[in-house]
Amino acid sequence: MDFRQYLIVVYSVGFLKPIVKFPIKICDFILARAFGNTFIEFELSSLCNAKCIFCFYPDIEKSDKKLERMTDVNFDKALEKIEQLDYSFISFTPTTGDILTNKVWDEHLFKATELKKIRQITFYSNAILLNESNQVKMIELLKKDKKKKIFALFFSVGGLDRETYDFMFGVDKYDAVVRNINAFLVKLKNEGIVTNVSIEFRLPKDYNLNFTDAMKVFNQVGYSFVNINVLDKFMSNNHLPLFKELEYMPEGKPTHTACAYLSKTRFSADGGIWADGCVVSEVVDDESLRLGSVDDSIELIEKNRSKIINDWEKDMIIPLPCKGCTFMRID
Ligand code: SF4
Repeated sequence: MDFRQYLIVVYSVGFLKPIVKFPIKICDFILARAFGNTFIEFELSSLCNAKCIFCFYPDIEKSDKKLERMTDVNFDKALEKIEQLDYSFISFTPTTGDILTNKVWDEHLFKATELKKIRQITFYSNAILLNESNQVKMIELLKKDKKKKIFALFFSVGGLDRETYDFMFGVDKYDAVVRNINAFLVKLKNEGIVTNVSIEFRLPKDYNLNFTDAMKVFNQVGYSFVNINVLDKFMSNNHLPLFKELEYMPEGKPTHTACAYLSKTRFSADGGIWADGCVVSEVVDDESLRLGSVDDSIELIEKNRSKIINDWEKDMIIPLPCKGCTFMRID
């Protein structure tokens, strides 16, 4: 049993709750930031129900790309590959898409919790489809996850009013998202489940979020393990459409050291395997970060990764999504 699991067991003893609540939050904070550049980004679906202005999805949707849910066959092959790779953390975060558009997302996550090598799992959704049925599925999944590998759930939202949400997410779903997250937190609290829930605000540059109001709107039941985070500086590259209402991270100058995020691995919904997986890493009609597919050997996947890194470091051949990227990480 690891330290966090131990704290959660102690938390279940009623009178010790106030004492261990803070250490659990500290563990979650450290865990969420400890993985640096070596983890898996897993995309169970490339379909999305929003049109976020900070994402390539609106452009991808207009392209010829087939948007799809990962098949069971490809999912099982992906797990076999993961067993051969050297990672301990999976982030179920589509590059573009929303996980809840895959109806069997919970079965897939459960299988992932059973992988020996994987010790931590996170989940990311816009909560538009976090309806009653998906809330119940998540509760059941968290109960079955005896080793507490699923330690953080991230829900992206846009402001505390319908207009800001519609502008950021491109759909009229503010009321549904507020309702879904609150109903889910009620279930977590009633079931006595401990998991870190991060409400991730995506905001225009002139928006000042009041954190107390944010808690009042999204955590009406007062569930103890909710964080509010704000992203008001967005990633971009030379290809993402830019909006004057958003502030973007400053661009770094590429050097002869390749971006450290190339050592991350993304499993895409169509069975592809890619380097990286951040939100700007898939440009329409470009496959320069694609390493192969779940049908290829790990040797071939890693050979292709080495080629991308070597081309960058020796000849400054920089993959298209990395050109002008403001998220580049040179360790
Ligand atoms: S430079 Fe940007 S797009 Fe390229 S791997 Fe790094 S973070 Fe991803």
